[in-house]
Amino acid sequence: MMGPFRNAIPSRRPTPSKNPTGDNWAEHKPDLKIDFNSKCGYCDSFDGFRHTYFEVDHFIPKDFFKPLGNISVTEYRNLVYSCKFCNNTKRAKWPTQREDIYNDGTSGFDDPATNLYDTHFYRTADGGIMWQTNVGKWMFREAFHFDKRQNSIKILWNLEKLRLILDSLIIILNSLDQASVEYKDLKIKIGEYSLEYYLFHKELIDFYG
Ligand SMILES: [Zn+2]
Repeated sequence: MMGPFRNAIPSRRPTPSKNPTGDNWAEHKPDLKIDFNSKCGYCDSFDGFRHTYFEVDHFIPKDFFKPLGNISVTEYRNLVYSCKFCNNTKRAKWPTQREDIYNDGTSGFDDPATNLYDTHFYRTADGGIMWQTNVGKWMFREAFHFDKRQNSIKILWNLEKLRLILDSLIIILNSLDQASVEYKDLKIKIGEYSLEYYLFHKELIDFYG
């Protein structure tokens, strides 16, 4: 059993709400959070579980293109909402050494704000990330260390799945008559999902100590 890597492809707004200068690219963070659906562009983990800091990553590394001067460090189209783990392992890796070529079919990247990025990965039935192209394999092993992070990736995926289920069930619950059988049955169901959610959350807390 395998599924799509992500449910939604992030999309950068054409005109960001801030216009930072100098090294103040972090001013774009609120826009990026919205445009990336509150998820890491690279590993798709939701930022609401507070397992890590979320940062602003330069897709084409700033240390690489800064001397060329063709892209400003505050340029919105080159920024990615990224968890600390992905940002820290990616660092200045840019195998093609060209700002107009993201990968050479063997190593390198694709922009996570395009569906091209999703062609490189899929989800296992239990929420793990697996690669399905050579570039995907390179990103998986070299750029983001998904292999070493697989346990937390699975926990975060399950938590996110349960969060969405619970959110939608609670909306339905609030629309029901509290004296009805449907209300009582749904409340029991929500209790079961809540327990499952709690146990995954506990596992996440234990995992990150
Ligand atoms: Zn990430």
